[in-house]
Amino acid sequence: RERWMDRLRGGLQKTGAGITQVFVGTRIDDHLYEELEAALLMADTGVKATEHLLQDLKRRVKDSKATDPQQVKTLLADALTDLLKPLEKALVVGQYQPTVVMVVGVNGAGKTTSIGKLTRHLADAEQSVLLAAADTFRAAAREQLAVWADRNRVEIVSQEGADPAAVTFDAVSAAKARGRDVVIADTAGRLPTQLHLMEELKKIRRVIAKADLTAPHEVLLVVDGNTGQNALTQVKAFDDALTLTGLIVTKLDGTAKGGVLAAIARERPVPVYFIGVGEKLEDLETFDAREFAQALLS
Ligand code: GDP
Repeated sequence: RERWMDRLRGGLQKTGAGITQVFVGTRIDDHLYEELEAALLMADTGVKATEHLLQDLKRRVKDSKATDPQQVKTLLADALTDLLKPLEKALVVGQYQPTVVMVVGVNGAGKTTSIGKLTRHLADAEQSVLLAAADTFRAAAREQLAVWADRNRVEIVSQEGADPAAVTFDAVSAAKARGRDVVIADTAGRLPTQLHLMEELKKIRRVIAKADLTAPHEVLLVVDGNTGQNALTQVKAFDDALTLTGLIVTKLDGTAKGGVLAAIARERPVPVYFIGVGEKLEDLETFDAREFAQALLS
């Protein structure tokens, strides 16, 4: 956990640099708040979350009678923690057999990598996982998923050129027959502005329900944290179309746009199950609001 905190701190340095810089002076005045507003916006916190944080912070400063900008920084960490707190949620498995997790996201967001990491995480928790390669048209996507399946030594259902919904149906049926704990379906990720993609994803969702009436139990969106406000746009678009149950926010290592999590918390608070700070299998961690706020402002 300590190592991970170091990674998170290192990863968010670029986002935090501009913000922490605001507190180097000796006075708490309008100038400080103006600088802070600009820094939060630069970090892709967005207008709404920035306004909310500034108001909340000013109230905290007044109540605490703080006189030192460093105290204001601590109070900002508190305000940010409170804002992000509702995003904290753990992925629960075991309630269904299998738990069916549908994973969506635009190409390049880190979807396949995150599925590899998630598989590892579940395998570590003694869960048997079956992967479904529902992105049937991109050969590279299927191959990459097969590599992750191999590394994690889990089964994969994959069929070139098949209907994505049919592959997912087969995977859920196979998992039921074999008593597997979790099915993770990797779906295609062309841009969400293309209506066709959303229709395909909705169809997969409908067909999963045919294989198991209670499924899918989770619809997770993988978003690239490094895309800042674009990530928020994607959360809204996918949530409108599919009703998301959670997010995996990737690439928080070395990003200057980590403030987007505050924007998500304010504008579309879909829970964040995991965050990613690297390309390796173990670079996936549960989201902790306090840790995130402290890492950002350290
Ligand atoms: P997909 O198209 O959404 O399936 O994306 P991929 O899983 O293929 O990932 C795209 C690229 O992002 C790959 O080079 C991954 O190694 C990289 N990537 C994924 N997650 C992370 C992360 O948390 N941090 C970093 N630095 N890179 C990541």
